[in-house]
Amino acid sequence: MSREGVPPLPTKQPAMAFQDAAKLSLADSQLRFNMGKATTTIRGKRVKAVQELPDWEALREAGRAIKERTLRHLDKYLIQFEESVTRVGGKVHWAADGDDANRIVADLVKAQGAREVVKIKSLTTDEIGLNEALAHQGITAHETDLAELIIQLADERSSHILVPAIHKSRAEIRELFRRTLENTQDLSDDPKALAAAARAHLRKKFLTVPVAVSGVNFGVAETGTVCIVESEGNGRMCLTLPRVLISVMGIEKLIPTWRDMEVYLQLLPRSSTAERMNPYTSFWTGLAPAGDGPDEFHLILLDDGRSRVLADREGRQALNCIRCSACLNICPVYERTGGHAYNSVYPGPIGAILTPQLVGVENAGSLPYASSLCGACYEVCPVKINIPEVLVHLRGKVVRHKQESLLGRLAPENLAMKALAKVFASPRRYAAMQKIGRQGQKLVVKRGVIDRLPGYLGGWTSVRDVYPVAPQTFREWWTQRERQPKVEPKQPPREETRP
Ligand code: SF4
Repeated sequence: MSREGVPPLPTKQPAMAFQDAAKLSLADSQLRFNMGKATTTIRGKRVKAVQELPDWEALREAGRAIKERTLRHLDKYLIQFEESVTRVGGKVHWAADGDDANRIVADLVKAQGAREVVKIKSLTTDEIGLNEALAHQGITAHETDLAELIIQLADERSSHILVPAIHKSRAEIRELFRRTLENTQDLSDDPKALAAAARAHLRKKFLTVPVAVSGVNFGVAETGTVCIVESEGNGRMCLTLPRVLISVMGIEKLIPTWRDMEVYLQLLPRSSTAERMNPYTSFWTGLAPAGDGPDEFHLILLDDGRSRVLADREGRQALNCIRCSACLNICPVYERTGGHAYNSVYPGPIGAILTPQLVGVENAGSLPYASSLCGACYEVCPVKINIPEVLVHLRGKVVRHKQESLLGRLAPENLAMKALAKVFASPRRYAAMQKIGRQGQKLVVKRGVIDRLPGYLGGWTSVRDVYPVAPQTFREWWTQRERQPKVEPKQPPREETRP
């Protein structure tokens, strides 16, 4: 199968299961090489960057606590944020879902008489399919982040939340630029030359396009400030040059006070790019009185399933995510499959817990299984999201959802689990099953292990051997031992004592 078999995102329709999509990726040796090299390098750098801070664990704990408190009082903080943004000259729009947000953006762009927008890299706008929605309205969105531009020119989807083109080598990028950008026939694959070609292309857009669209890393309820963190400076150009700025913010990106920023601006760069500080951190508090910056600032507050996630006590921790991507870089599953296999704007461990909650387990039921549950993601997460715990919780939801249909109730796995539950609930039945199993397994035990089970159970032994039922269980041994006549230990002969 080719990669064209992978359905596009975003989607609310059942997507290709992770297990099937992963097979496409695993067959691509170039992709595995690129992924392995990139994630190994960034993992090593992150460890060093984190070790420099003696209070790293305290920072993580603070990051978790602030986010959890914000989520507990999200209604209050959102109202405060709206008031603050309005006070400093911004206009707040509320969007219940992606369609709502896309419509608001398109209307705002059309009101300017514009047909193009420049965009700062934003997962939230990817989630709602903004570029595609704008294209339907005849508006072209130009991605200005280098990696996002590469993905846009290649007509692909991102495979990493921070480094969307992580799966591409320099040679592949050079070929792409030569095909799609002007004056690039003699382009080399030197990173500087590639960056210069992209810069020449983008500069024209920054200077001519009147509307910019951004996501938001953090919004401060107290001051109405919006924060965007980036590496290349393209975001700063979008924030300062166009006349109108439209920012789309998921409602979970809120933090209560300006002071809280000190925690996240230490946690985020070290966890994501292993830097002490990211090169560009832009803060936007409404409109600048001297006309420095845009004349209009619109902030769209997006729900799109987040309220539903918030209602789930265990699952809501996914909303703490600050999109650092440390969990992707450490995950052994992501390292081998890359991001496309997840069929999700949010790949890797965070995608495996966030996407099924945003779009419903019925639409992304394979993602909670895209993990070995090794727990490495939990160890590196700067805001201590217990990803394995949420994965297990979601697996339970997937199973319960399957059990709602007749087909699901009659599925062999479901029937087998029901039968096992009955067996485990009764010591008598359990002992009887052990005896039956001991007899039945004679056909499949070879050299002391079961390396191949027949039929439906065969999937279990395709990657592991199963130990057979022991010839004698502990209980049987104990019972046998108790039945044996007790033999009194011989006493040593007494020595005679003489007066
Ligand atoms: S879940 Fe944690 S480690 Fe993963 S991207 Fe979010 S904040 Fe980073």
